[in-house]
Amino acid sequence: MNVLAIYPGSFDPITNGHIDIVKRALRVFDKIIILVAVNPGKKYLFSVEERVQMIKDSLKEYPQVSVDSTSGLTVHYAQKVGANAMIRGLRAATDFEYEFQMNNANVFIDKQIESIFFMAKHEFMFISSSTIKEMVAGGIDVSKLVPAPVYTMLKEHQ
Ligand code: ADP
Repeated sequence: MNVLAIYPGSFDPITNGHIDIVKRALRVFDKIIILVAVNPGKKYLFSVEERVQMIKDSLKEYPQVSVDSTSGLTVHYAQKVGANAMIRGLRAATDFEYEFQMNNANVFIDKQIESIFFMAKHEFMFISSSTIKEMVAGGIDVSKLVPAPVYTMLKEHQ
């Protein structure tokens, strides 16, 4: 069976924490589509095109991974491509409440699509896209926390 999952998120920008989730999820799923969310109510540092390109450049050695974007509901996207599962990551208890509520909303829309949660590895637990952006603004070297193509883009945005 060819099991397809989508990994939805803002990815503003993708970090080594996200990358770790993708690599581990590839042991469970045959194919993963990373889905960049476009939420008109949210302010992003990077455009959707930039976010998609950074993910493609960061994961180019993984042919099982593709990247797309949507301004609609992630569940609708999953239905459209025939995905069986949605991948999410959990760092701390604070993530749990938000993810639990999102999962309930998604199950309400379509109970056939399962959300699968991967626990963050210890060394990636503190990494979030917002922390990265704050660190960069404060002049901290984040080269060990993000993939090389993201590091380049962050420097260009300074
Ligand atoms: P969203 O705005 O949808 O939360 P993010 O790009 O911030 O988008 O995160 C996408 C998913 O990846 C979320 O489930 C989040 O909990 C998870 N995630 C983010 N950073 C990490 C990390 N360092 N380790 C594990 N999971 C993470």
